[in-house]
Amino acid sequence: MKLLEYEAKRVFAEYGIPVPKGAVIRAPEEVAAHMEDLGDGVVLKAQVDVGGRGKAGGVLMADKATAVATARELFSREIKGVPVREVLAEERLPIEHEYYVSIAVDRSSKQPVVLFADAGGVEIEKMAAEDESAVRRVVVSPLLSDIPPFLMRELLGDAPKELAPVINSLYHVFQGKDAMLAEINPLVTTARGVYAADAKLIVDDNALARQGITVNRDLSEREREAEKHGFSYVELDGTIGVIGNGAGLTMSTLDLIEFYNGRAANFLDVGGGADQERVMYAVRLVASMPKVKVIVVNLLGGITRCDEVAKGIIAAGVEPTVIVRMAGTNEEEGRRLLAECGYRMLESMDAAVRAAMEVAE
Ligand code: GDP
Ligand code: MN
Repeated sequence: MKLLEYEAKRVFAEYGIPVPKGAVIRAPEEVAAHMEDLGDGVVLKAQVDVGGRGKAGGVLMADKATAVATARELFSREIKGVPVREVLAEERLPIEHEYYVSIAVDRSSKQPVVLFADAGGVEIEKMAAEDESAVRRVVVSPLLSDIPPFLMRELLGDAPKELAPVINSLYHVFQGKDAMLAEINPLVTTARGVYAADAKLIVDDNALARQGITVNRDLSEREREAEKHGFSYVELDGTIGVIGNGAGLTMSTLDLIEFYNGRAANFLDVGGGADQERVMYAVRLVASMPKVKVIVVNLLGGITRCDEVAKGIIAAGVEPTVIVRMAGTNEEEGRRLLAECGYRMLESMDAAVRAAMEVAE
């Protein structure tokens, strides 16, 4: 789950990373009360979860005389379609230089990777694409509680040494908060020291309970529903709903749809031994996506019984066409029940996917 900038900055501050003085406001007038504390120059930052927020008009500069009007302007905006409900008002830092630092999980080495660039602030993807050497990277063993000095030197190059303790603290945040990403862009130098001018923190969804986070805000209502039932569920952008049992079979179904140039609407693995009720919930969940025109149910009857699945599909009684391919335990009974209610059950996965493609078109 992604934290908002002000939430991430609170965490950073707990770990000793200097952040600008700031206050969260929920209405333009509230900024006035903080001006004394923040000083004459302020930065008003929309707390919206969008990339390139500054460029999209989500970061505005103001002073004592213009703060309320500027805040009003910011609250009236939509940043890449997202309305502004909270604004972080911060002291404006006298920035000397902007650096970039981020720590993420390197999937190939399965270890934290630290990225650093001398030119921060700008979009790092663009910079890396133009000049690969502009971004330095080191991989740190997760068994280490600090970034070793020799790696830190490699990372920083000629950049000021005073950045090192901040980057090391960011590594502590990354480890302590079970992060998938901890990023400071820009990490800035000023005459009074180093600051995290921006903050990004994504907590691993699998660690939310350990982190004391009870609601994953990043999930859609449907994704939350899926989580409740213990389905593995991912929404995609096509029109063909997919329900399978076992990650492999479900993935193969998606692959086959792609192979025939179709577009799947989702991935849903009901898991092993799904009974009638579970199947019903799964079918209803997939059917509740407005874009879904047809649903392919592709199941192997092992512990899962095909007659239970058939009953679940029938009980769901959804509007989109449901096309079924099942094989295994109680297959004949399942087929009979489905046929009775006018459902199509096909012999092979290939035939089922092709039939779904026809309906979708
Ligand atoms: P983002 O666009 O969502 O990444 O927003 P940032 O918080 O990174 O801000 C974008 C840019 O605004 C930064 O790269 C800085 O150039 C500028 N900025 C942000 N805070 C300050 C500040 O306190 N002082 C000054 N001078 N510039 C700032
Ligand atoms: Mn930024």
